[in-house]
Amino acid sequence: MAKIKINIKDGTVKKSETVIGIDLGTTNSLVAFVNPDNRQPYCMSDQSSSIVPSIVHILPNQITVGEKAKPFLTTEPQNTVYSVKRLLGKSYQDVLPEKNQLGYQLHEDPINHLVNISINDKHHNPIEISSFILSHLKERAERILDEKISKAVITVPAYFNDSQRQATRDAGKLAGLDVLRIINEPTAASLAYGIGLNREESKTVAVYDLGGGTFDITLLNIENGVFEVLSTNGDTHIGGDDFDRALLIHWLNHHQLESIVIEENKNLYQTLRLLAEKAKKHLSSNPVFSETIEINQEVYTFTIDIETFNSIIQSILKKTIIACEQAIKDANIQLSEIHEVVMVGGSTRTPFVLSEVAKLFTFSKINNQIHPDEVVALGAAIEADILAGNRKDVFLLDVTPLSLGIETIGGLMDTIIPRNSKIPSKAGRQYTTSVDGQSQLKVSVYQGERDLVEDNRKLGEFILKNIPAMPAGLPKIDIQFFIDADGILKVEATELRSGVKQQIDIKPQYGLTDTEVENMLLSALKNAESDIKKRQLIETQSEAEQLIYQCNKLIYSNREVVEESEAVATISQIKKLQEAIQHQDEEAIKLEIERLNNLTRPFAERLMDHAIGNALKGKKIE
Ligand code: AMP
Repeated sequence: MAKIKINIKDGTVKKSETVIGIDLGTTNSLVAFVNPDNRQPYCMSDQSSSIVPSIVHILPNQITVGEKAKPFLTTEPQNTVYSVKRLLGKSYQDVLPEKNQLGYQLHEDPINHLVNISINDKHHNPIEISSFILSHLKERAERILDEKISKAVITVPAYFNDSQRQATRDAGKLAGLDVLRIINEPTAASLAYGIGLNREESKTVAVYDLGGGTFDITLLNIENGVFEVLSTNGDTHIGGDDFDRALLIHWLNHHQLESIVIEENKNLYQTLRLLAEKAKKHLSSNPVFSETIEINQEVYTFTIDIETFNSIIQSILKKTIIACEQAIKDANIQLSEIHEVVMVGGSTRTPFVLSEVAKLFTFSKINNQIHPDEVVALGAAIEADILAGNRKDVFLLDVTPLSLGIETIGGLMDTIIPRNSKIPSKAGRQYTTSVDGQSQLKVSVYQGERDLVEDNRKLGEFILKNIPAMPAGLPKIDIQFFIDADGILKVEATELRSGVKQQIDIKPQYGLTDTEVENMLLSALKNAESDIKKRQLIETQSEAEQLIYQCNKLIYSNREVVEESEAVATISQIKKLQEAIQHQDEEAIKLEIERLNNLTRPFAERLMDHAIGNALKGKKIE
């Protein structure tokens, strides 16, 4: 399958390695590649299916992944891990609300506070469990292509933050894969439809992804082969499983079976839940479903027609439509500007989903021809093919969901890379010291929109040491932020006069969910006015503190120029300014700053003349 290159000069034959595309999903994962013979992407199937359930069964000396691990979900739930993607890059605190819904045990890593899974008294982290799924996919690809695979592109949801992306990359590494790039699932789905492959094309696309348990809507702008995420929205707890549950409740109500099914027989509940899923799938291509089941020696007929089913799922679907409307608003575009909609996820097979989506996006072409379970993996394979060097005309670009910056004097947030900046990206700014002879500078990196860092999220910190002794304000400290194509942040601080340098890669201890990002944005909006006031006060206070520092220096180290009466007046005015700082009264501080400036101006000028006079002594001026 691999492409063969022949070096014409020396006649050597070189097989170029296939780069695979992986959709590492919450419920299912897939692996795909581009066939070099016809440049078409294919998902790799074993036996009948291309889908590998993202389930891992763990015994002390045996790991089973995929379809074979599925039966253990009911027989050995404590050893069988599913939905591990929900835990990737998260702290134990982050996942506490979901803890009781999982069949396996979660633990907190005492050192980094990340979530761990404990099985047979052994702790496994989500990266390791994800790496088992990735190894399984890698082996499948090696078997089918009959070649060693070492490079991959892996997809992640558009709302995944640095830490979740880094965790995905680490899982790849652990599985023996060099992860050439982490790309967004909606970007991959668009690529599968060929959107963005033509460099001349300029388009806005909505990617509607409704799976079993999650829903995402992403708006993308594609220009000159560059993909930019305009906005994302969704709900990590809405999906086709809710359709099944709604139908089940409808049936239980109809037959007045609630008490029997839920309280007396949990197995029966599972049986009926599976029957509801079967009915839902049947209704995707038939008008009516009907099946009989015996419960407590009585025969019940479970029937559902398409109209009733649509009315049952209407309210769930409505939530996804509201999320779409919000995403359009956030992207600051009109419905009529969206050229295409890409349908992703198994639940988009329900015809009512399609018709409701089409009803909202009246102006857009709806793409649903590609298998909705495979579309992301197929797109990842296309990106893998591009990175393998087989297509040189496409780039991918995303944006940062929240602003990134550092803490400055008074606990203020100084944004270096604003929210919605395109990535990869690089930005920097120069800072200086506030005290004479300062030899260290702490660089604390934050993410968020609030003016005070205490309201934002800390990503990490480091100390720039060995700054040579210089008066305050003289060192030039350059701080650079780099975000690579995977959205991972590197921060570098350099004292430019001496070349002293320090750098960190930001791998936050835990990530933010899309809801948390949303909440952070909302709280920034809500508190904008009071934040501005606080910021102004802090800035005025630190200006005052700097002035006090300079004035003290002036009167104590220049006794030959400053008269005694001037020094006394200055000290008394400094006291007044200090009182105003203590009272946190911005107007009063400004007034006292002005008074102190007026008071010190005459002898500061005299001092300047004195210094110039000294400097010019003995020099001839022409
Ligand atoms: P995903 O998470 O993308 O694999 O989607 C899984 C969801 O798709 C589950 O809720 C399935 O019940 C649902 N699904 C699979 N096939 C169909 C179908 N033919 N009609 C409706 N829903 C389906």
